[in-house]
Amino acid sequence: MKSKLTFSLHILLLLNFAVFAQPNYDEAEIKTIPVNDHIHMLQWSGAGNMMVLTGKDGNILIDDQFAPLSDKINNAIQAVQTGPVKFLFNTHYHGDHSGGNEKFAQMGATIFAHENVRARLSADSSIIKFTQAPKPSPEASWPVITFSEGLNVYLNNEYIMIFHVHHAHTDGDAILYLPQSNVIHTGDCFMKGRFPFIDLNSGGSVNGWIAAASKILTVIDDETVVIPGHGDLATKKDYENVRDAVMSLRDAVKTNYRLGKSLEDILAMNLTKNYENNFGSGFIKGDALVTTIYKELSTN
Ligand SMILES: [Zn+2]
Repeated sequence: MKSKLTFSLHILLLLNFAVFAQPNYDEAEIKTIPVNDHIHMLQWSGAGNMMVLTGKDGNILIDDQFAPLSDKINNAIQAVQTGPVKFLFNTHYHGDHSGGNEKFAQMGATIFAHENVRARLSADSSIIKFTQAPKPSPEASWPVITFSEGLNVYLNNEYIMIFHVHHAHTDGDAILYLPQSNVIHTGDCFMKGRFPFIDLNSGGSVNGWIAAASKILTVIDDETVVIPGHGDLATKKDYENVRDAVMSLRDAVKTNYRLGKSLEDILAMNLTKNYENNFGSGFIKGDALVTTIYKELSTN
């Protein structure tokens, strides 16, 4: 059962990733969306959202998409404020958020991230257990300053409160909150209007994702500008809606799992029917989320 389940989950993920397999970087256009006078979201729909914080201390970047886009991303940053990226923060290790690390490091950026981001990029199995054969990235892409629970950063007249949420989207997620501007970058712990991708193979967990969302929702308020990992600028309400959907799906799948239903039985119940309109437009469809929830229940 377990191997069949793992197999079907992999097929689902492979099918989904195939959509992203050949992005057209030449035609990619990095959009610059102002949040306020010194914070901008940089966006290209084929990869994760970035945030640029500008000011007297230089350019600060959160996430950096894929390496072939680094020049375009840097051009977009230069249009906001000239000068190199001095500090680069990764919300997690996935390539659509950290793929530009090597290039930005070569341009002079110092990279910060949770310690498991470094462990995953450097394939250091002395720090974490890998469920798949680890593949190291070039050393220049590894974060040089890491943290386990959090970090306080004071730059460009902002206090940046960085905190780790345990086993959520991955095992190395960092949330960056700027209370003075009331802006938060959630990384992929939140994708606007989409079911979450919970990467069980990289230490993510459904229960951890829900706990992370609930924690983050206590930090922000109705006025907070939420920069999601993917999708447009969002609000606390948008995040609450997807958290509530995942919670009720988790509970429904759990109830049926405890009644002895198989994954196939549960998928046939179409539990996500009422949520597909709001959250089913991303690369994680309802069946993939239900499969992830079931897999977590059946392996714990
Ligand atoms: Zn991700």
